[in-house]
Amino acid sequence: MKKLEYEKPYIKKLHAGVMNKFGTRTGVQPVKSIDGVSVKSLIENYGSPVFVLSEKQIRKNYRSAYRAFSTRYPKVQFAWSYKTNYLNAVCQVFHQEGSWAEVVSGFEYRKALGNGVPGNKIIFNGPGKSNDDLKIAIENDSLIHIDHFEELNHLLNLTKEFTNKPRVAIRVNMDTGVYPLWDRFGFNYENDEAWTALSKVIDSGKLLLVGLHCHIGTYMLTTDAYGIATTKLCNLAMRCQIQLNHKIEYIDMGGGFPSTNTLKGAYLPGNDTVPSIDDFAEVITSTLLNFGFANEYLPMLILESGRVLIDDAGYLLGTVIANKRLSNGKRATIVDFGVNILFTSFWYEHQISPAQDFMPHSENMVIYGPLCMNIDVIRESINLPPLNPGDQVVVHKVGAYNMTQWMQFITLRPAVVLIDEQQHPHLIRANETLDYTQEPELIPTHLKASK
Ligand SMILES: *Cc1c(COP(=O)(O)O)cnc(C)c1O
Repeated sequence: MKKLEYEKPYIKKLHAGVMNKFGTRTGVQPVKSIDGVSVKSLIENYGSPVFVLSEKQIRKNYRSAYRAFSTRYPKVQFAWSYKTNYLNAVCQVFHQEGSWAEVVSGFEYRKALGNGVPGNKIIFNGPGKSNDDLKIAIENDSLIHIDHFEELNHLLNLTKEFTNKPRVAIRVNMDTGVYPLWDRFGFNYENDEAWTALSKVIDSGKLLLVGLHCHIGTYMLTTDAYGIATTKLCNLAMRCQIQLNHKIEYIDMGGGFPSTNTLKGAYLPGNDTVPSIDDFAEVITSTLLNFGFANEYLPMLILESGRVLIDDAGYLLGTVIANKRLSNGKRATIVDFGVNILFTSFWYEHQISPAQDFMPHSENMVIYGPLCMNIDVIRESINLPPLNPGDQVVVHKVGAYNMTQWMQFITLRPAVVLIDEQQHPHLIRANETLDYTQEPELIPTHLKASK
């Protein structure tokens, strides 16, 4: 008979009270590799912590989102939301798939140009476009989405300097039944401000109104809101056609579809609660198709999805530094990545998996980052098998917003690796160095260190 493996005895603190509806099972499985590449080798070669992105998953997400819309509607175009993840390698995957670029600053705009995106396939959103930004966007015939009257007047003034008519859209905000309202961006629908802006653009004769845009929120949990928003933009387009004899070329519904991450405090996991891309596609496209546009004047449908296309393609690998018992008896585990590089841990309960085999019991614990800051909490409460110093962990669904909102705070930002479809890892952003962070610093002579 095969000798049974020795298992260390352990003492487990019993918590009084009822089980949750899922029983005691934690469902934790070790995650030892990502797309066929072992976690161990990734950390060995690129350091710990390290962000890892799956090209296969990004393409899969894009294709299923595109399919959801294009099988329901004849004219569909996606534009990759740069601020969600603007590492150039990531943008290029989306551009290869056929995505345009959606940018919200001059910095992002120039990044898109640098990535070879033709100017007329760049959508320029946001309330903060500078004079230079607007000029370069006009020069390159980009789609300028106007956010406020100052910008509209500014554009009208700039037209004197150009021979081509700038192509613009009006950003519209509206009541979609989801509160608080996102009414700080664009022109309001209900009080007719959007109509005023739109008429002003057309009456000027100096700008070409090609589209209507909205971005009604982010991580939206209801498809109804998109039905309402689509109807309102269609109303504006139709009114524009009838009263001003002007046809709108496209309706841009923005982004906002949720990824399957679990929001903090949610009763059920995101996997079980968020509507699918098909649910959103169905509402948006059926509203457009049934609205009453003549077939030849069906507007093109643009989508600027961000998080839903990349969140689950991103992982953060890290290493356990130490364990502690807090004064209340709760287990605390300290890992080598903090909230400065995992910004989304402020609103998601990220799933964390051990990257090696573990003992069968689990315990409720808090996961801390390495920063000397009280707010550095990765998970306030999670059931995991006890992890030992040196053990590796995988944090799931971190592809959206972390690699753009991360901060160089206390520690340096880590490397980012993309695993291609042939399961080869590629370094797409090197880890930061002391020299890199100090490069822009200057020291007045009287403060120079004396040797
Ligand atoms: C951030 C943003 C997006 C992407 O939003 P997601 O919620 O990540 O899909 C799209 N459009 C605009 C204008 C944005 O600001």
